[in-house]
Amino acid sequence: MKVDIFTLKKQYDEIKDELKGPIEKVMTSGAFILGEDVGLFEKEFAAYCDVKYGIGVNSGTDALFLACLACGIGKGDEVITPTYTYIATSFGISIAGATPVFVDTEEKTYNIDISKIEKAITKKTKAILLVHLYGHPADMDPVIEIARKYKLKVIEDCAQAHGALYKNKKVGSLGDAACFSFYPTKNLGAFGDGGMITTNSEEVKDRALLLRDYGRKGRYENIIKGYNSRLDTLQAAILRVKLKHLDEWNEKRRKNATLYTKLFKETKMDITLPYEADYAKHIYHQYAVRIKNRKEVMEKLADKGLCPLIHYPIPVHLQECYKELGYKRGDFPVAEKYCEEIMSLPMYPELTTEEIKYVVEAISSV
Ligand SMILES: *Cc1c(COP(=O)(O)O)cnc(C)c1O
Repeated sequence: MKVDIFTLKKQYDEIKDELKGPIEKVMTSGAFILGEDVGLFEKEFAAYCDVKYGIGVNSGTDALFLACLACGIGKGDEVITPTYTYIATSFGISIAGATPVFVDTEEKTYNIDISKIEKAITKKTKAILLVHLYGHPADMDPVIEIARKYKLKVIEDCAQAHGALYKNKKVGSLGDAACFSFYPTKNLGAFGDGGMITTNSEEVKDRALLLRDYGRKGRYENIIKGYNSRLDTLQAAILRVKLKHLDEWNEKRRKNATLYTKLFKETKMDITLPYEADYAKHIYHQYAVRIKNRKEVMEKLADKGLCPLIHYPIPVHLQECYKELGYKRGDFPVAEKYCEEIMSLPMYPELTTEEIKYVVEAISSV
């Protein structure tokens, strides 16, 4: 038996027929840039997230840096952010011209350690950009309290958390702005790159709309220096179809996670399983476990046709691209330790019970 670490084939087979009409419609309309489906998807996705506005952009990374700029963050500013995440989170800050200030990881949820945020605040701090990592929402209320106290903006990186709930509220609706990625492997993925900024602020929305489209007012009238970062009409049309399935797919992921957890507990092996806080509805973008002898386990799993992934092997503060910031090993011990132990198992809605059983058995028998 072989279990794919990830596959989109089964999902495509499921929705192939639904996609044909919408794709054909875009192809025949010729409106490939900011066509009708973009505006419609922005409205539908904003409604899904319980926010007023959605602004479609080219990728999650673009959503991050454009959201920073739209929130007035730029050169000379510092933004507090977790070191334990995908590199694009802090790139959003850096591309906007600001400096990321890293904070260690909370032990159970893998999200930013909120108890360490205040110590990282300086006169230059403008915002907290946090991540709902693996699909588990960060504990937003205390973050928002700190932000109010120090007059900071809060930006959510929701690239792994489409549909996750914090105290029954959708992520993407909890801060000043939020950023989604529709990279194909995300819980809601396009057939290429795509992203979205969501916000309840009219000002952030207006700035983001200008920034993503050359700072244009009319056709050839440009009132600020902008970028070219628009969600393709074709991707928007595809995402509109997929959005209708998102809750059902997330539920299947949750069911798969429950089965993994139950089976792992039965093995009584020494493994740290994902945690779901009382305030959270986890949507399991990843089912990430921690294990002490990871290298050995992964080698043995490869022989059994299983290739877990590592999200992520290097914490951002130790990445070469950030060496100018002067962080060193030992600065964020939790994140550094987790990078040595973490391992993502196959996780997608279409996984079968047999496949999950096979994965648990393979891991528990190495
Ligand atoms: C995927 C991802 C991004 C970047 O999204 P792209 O669409 O690939 O640019 C940002 N942050 C996190 C946490 C991600 O997982």
